[in-house]
Amino acid sequence: MSSDDAIPAGRPGPAGAPVLADLPLVHSGKVRDLYQLPGDRLLMVASDRVSAFDVILPTLIPDKGAILTQLSLWWFGQLADLAPNHVVSTDVPAEVSGRAIVCERLAMVPVECVARGYLTGSGLADYAAGGAVCGISLPAGLVDGSHLPEPIFTPTTKAPKGRHDTAMTYADVVEAVGAELAAELRRLTLAVYDRGVAAAAAAGVLLADTKVEMGRRADGTLVLADELLTPDSSRFWPAASWRPGGPQPSYDKQFVRDWLLTSSGWRRDSGEPPPPLPDQIVEATRARYVQAYERLTGDSWR
Ligand code: ATP
Ligand code: MG
Repeated sequence: MSSDDAIPAGRPGPAGAPVLADLPLVHSGKVRDLYQLPGDRLLMVASDRVSAFDVILPTLIPDKGAILTQLSLWWFGQLADLAPNHVVSTDVPAEVSGRAIVCERLAMVPVECVARGYLTGSGLADYAAGGAVCGISLPAGLVDGSHLPEPIFTPTTKAPKGRHDTAMTYADVVEAVGAELAAELRRLTLAVYDRGVAAAAAAGVLLADTKVEMGRRADGTLVLADELLTPDSSRFWPAASWRPGGPQPSYDKQFVRDWLLTSSGWRRDSGEPPPPLPDQIVEATRARYVQAYERLTGDSWR
């Protein structure tokens, strides 16, 4: 979120979550809407919007916003001893109850902090092109889904709306935010990943990678923000079916991506908006989010 992307007055409200007309909407991202509250607080509302390939799809996934919010709250609680987080309260307007939190408004660090313990996705593409991910050389012979010798910090830029994030080397991060903060970002990202791996393992789930966003308070304190260890920010794989050498089944919007690329007739490079999702894809996707929540937290989803 930056100051130049405030929502123009009069714009129709974002979809997939109730619009709170009496609060100033300061940002509407692919998934979350942020409203200004007094005292430098934000109301962060997670919608049921789903994005794939950085495009918002025209179909909503019922309960997705609430699941992401509740799972993030669970993780913020699990990791509370590791670092401060941005959560202030869950005392929110009734119409967004369950899908929203009140949080501190932070100065977001302009780096998406990714940790990977397994090779896949854009990391695999980088590796295939030059044997390294974000400038970190890896051993030869790794395949899609390989377990890395140790977790690595693979940051990306925070691209403006409609653009794709691009890989950063550690030196790029140092240049962007200074050596001291860069070291802290790397340390904390890897610590979050380690804790995520351990908690997920207890539930029979592999945490392949995760993206953490952090921001700073006025006094400089680094704080965990945004969402934490959700299926939108992380790749969770059922441990029992992990077989390196190809794509793994995962607890996220894999159905959506697969359907878009193989069955929908939509071409990613067409510049056209993607078509609406069929009901069975919506239901299968919702079921995966519910399953991720239930396996990780050990609670049943409503
Ligand atoms: P963007 O909207 O930046 O393109 P996105 O589509 O991933 O990215 P969402 O996740 O939908 O965005 O919206 C959340 C936005 O709020 C992100 O820009 C995130 O960096 C920002 N954000 C999260 N937590 C805070 C916070 N505590 N203070 C300020 N901004 C925050
Ligand atoms: Mg986001």
